[in-house]
Amino acid sequence: MNELISVAEAEALITRHMPSFGSERVELDVAAGRILREPIRAERDQPPFDRVMMDGIALRWSGSLPRSFAVCGVQLAGMVAQTLVDDGCCIEVTTGAMLPDGCNCIVPVEQTLREGDRYLLAEGYVPTSGQFIHARGSDCPIDALLLNAGIRIGAPEMAVLAANGVTDVEVAIVPSVAVVATGDELVDVGAALGEGQIRRSNDRALAAALRSRGFGRVALSQVADDLGATVSILGALLAAHQVLILSGGVSMGQRDHVPAALDALGVRCVFHRIAQRPGKPMWFGIGAQGQAVFALPGNPVSALVCAIRYVMPALLASMGAVAEPLEHVCLDEAVDTNANLTCFVPAHVQHDSSGRALAHPVPSRTSGDFSSLPRTHGFVQLPPGQNVAVAGTAAAFYRW
Ligand code: AMP
Ligand code: MG
Repeated sequence: MNELISVAEAEALITRHMPSFGSERVELDVAAGRILREPIRAERDQPPFDRVMMDGIALRWSGSLPRSFAVCGVQLAGMVAQTLVDDGCCIEVTTGAMLPDGCNCIVPVEQTLREGDRYLLAEGYVPTSGQFIHARGSDCPIDALLLNAGIRIGAPEMAVLAANGVTDVEVAIVPSVAVVATGDELVDVGAALGEGQIRRSNDRALAAALRSRGFGRVALSQVADDLGATVSILGALLAAHQVLILSGGVSMGQRDHVPAALDALGVRCVFHRIAQRPGKPMWFGIGAQGQAVFALPGNPVSALVCAIRYVMPALLASMGAVAEPLEHVCLDEAVDTNANLTCFVPAHVQHDSSGRALAHPVPSRTSGDFSSLPRTHGFVQLPPGQNVAVAGTAAAFYRW
């Protein structure tokens, strides 16, 4: 039987062996949600010109009279800059327009009175020089680093890319992932249930975890507990996908053929079994063409915990994604742990009045009990060394 390795060792071994999935250039319109793989710099000063910030009038204010200005022009957003010919005049302006040459102040229309072809400043209103002018380069100067490689392109990133003329962008290739459920007892969601059968749910759960993290290329399949069938189906999947995530068939049972099948297919075992609960039988290896193969235990809590704790971060790191900061919580109640195993305990998290994240443990009685998982937000990681984690214990928290 293989030696158990620690959670930290498992994590380090995965990091060391994971392949890179490469990058590709895509058009901006299909880049939302992808991991950026190049730094983005400012195309020009932002704003690119002194920009009017209010609808109103532009004038040259020297701190005193006049308080009445003849209209000598209109400067709308998008027009080239006009010039103020005389300090006694003003130019009507709209938000987003270039500041007319010679002007140093915008007076909002609400602070003016229109009298024929003149504007009067409202009674008692005293403008200040420079007001309501968004100075050129004040947001960022040309060539400033705006986006680092490794971020996910969300709405703010998309705004910055578009504003800086980026029509196509280098992003991480999203690996094609095969999710394989193993087990003679499993039937698909809509199928009729025979005696001794259960619906397969791990594959759907794993696919949901993948899709919610931007992995759109996910193929589901099922394998019977038969060595020949497992070899043949996994062989075909290894030829077609860069990542395989299996559930079930990886323990010590007489029908657990996954490690032997992967071995027969030339997938090199990096580790088998981690000192953790749930998920002790987890297996990880690398295929002959660099495919990453994660074989997770079949119990639904084990499969999901292993996927969230190891598989998702590994895939994202291989795509060059900057890791999300680790969340920390405090237990609001004691929970049983294990002297020899790291325990992952599902928990519900809420914040107290001072903003402290409190995790309420919702332990599964067994790793086959998953009905309560939807009432949790993720799980805490509790290290070995003791048999109980007392209330107030600080722990790392992993979201589903
Ligand atoms: P195994 O790791 O294959 O021994 O499976 C452990 C337990 O998890 C068994 O009770 C299986 O029926 C259950 N199981 C395995 N695969 C799935 C699946 N895809 N969906 C739901 N339960 C599963
Ligand atoms: Mg099984």
